[in-house]
Amino acid sequence: MKSLKAQGNVLADADYQVELLATDNHAYRLVPFQQKLELSGLYPLKPTALQVFQVNVGKMCNQVCKHCHVDAGPDRKEIMTRETMQQCLDVLKENPSFQIVDLTGGAPELNPDFRWFVEQIKMLNRHIIVRCNLTIILANKRFYDLPKFFKSHNIEVVSSLPFYSKDRTDRQRGDGVFDDSIKALKMLNAVGYGIQDSGLILNLVYNPAGAFLPPAQTSLEADFKKALFNDFEIQFNTLFAITNLPISRYLDYLLTSGNYEAYMEKLVNAYNPAAALSVMCRNTISVGWDGFLYDCDFNQMLDLKVDSQSKHLTQFNFQQLTTRDIVVNQHCYGCTAGAGSSCGGTVA
Ligand code: SF4
Ligand code: SF4
Repeated sequence: MKSLKAQGNVLADADYQVELLATDNHAYRLVPFQQKLELSGLYPLKPTALQVFQVNVGKMCNQVCKHCHVDAGPDRKEIMTRETMQQCLDVLKENPSFQIVDLTGGAPELNPDFRWFVEQIKMLNRHIIVRCNLTIILANKRFYDLPKFFKSHNIEVVSSLPFYSKDRTDRQRGDGVFDDSIKALKMLNAVGYGIQDSGLILNLVYNPAGAFLPPAQTSLEADFKKALFNDFEIQFNTLFAITNLPISRYLDYLLTSGNYEAYMEKLVNAYNPAAALSVMCRNTISVGWDGFLYDCDFNQMLDLKVDSQSKHLTQFNFQQLTTRDIVVNQHCYGCTAGAGSSCGGTVA
């Protein structure tokens, strides 16, 4: 059997899986994702509506998390320029259908034009989500006022916290991350984030530390709320339980730990047509730091651009993008397993 090196690119996996399909006794688990969609009457996968404009403003991050699908870190140089941000704003102006702008990275706050971009988007009267990794708030004194900045623009804050205990969080995100995350959450609570009836939304994201699917979101949220309040008096709104997709650093982990095939088998066996119906790529356009367009953040990291003539902000054509076929591959099983997974947690 062919051995596979981690290449950070699931296309290499797809070749590998096709070979396994022909030679492995457990071929049932390697059914191409496209075939599963066909059986569900969902292929080719089409957009429903375009409502979420997700922008990756750069891959630089103050953390180097083990599961990161962006392969982000302090040494990444890819940063969205103000010129590309202006192209985003032009698209938003022309296309009121995008009511939600979801800013991600890396740590989006590390982009030197981050605050300018937020202010400009707010002037277009759009709801803004910022995927804040929490520790950035304490990384440098110039970020200490981020909670107040978020509040002044009524930004929805979505933050990863792999678990409510120090050891499990630090194992996944690095030493000291849990303590700094707790301090940052307290700063967000102090200005009203996550506090009932404040109108300031603070959502947390859980993702599994190993090669398993997340537990039920509702019961996990109850556990998180109880533990964080009892131990630290921290409050938040909703917990999103997200499945790790087999790409980038998480793919490396699966391959080096010998868990790749078992994990793929879990995902394939847990395929849920109801989750496939609601995958986030059906209402999202994902914009890369250089202005290229993708179906989602995962396809962006795999450099799978949209299957459309509108491949870049400068070519943006709403009609073409609404009627495109969404590009799918084996990693998509991560979005359709069990209760499904999206940037907003479970979908089914
Ligand atoms: S904080 Fe987020 S972007 Fe940064 S390394 Fe961790 S997972 Fe990746
Ligand atoms: S990985 Fe992206 S393209 Fe595939 S199902 Fe998930 S959101 Fe859609």
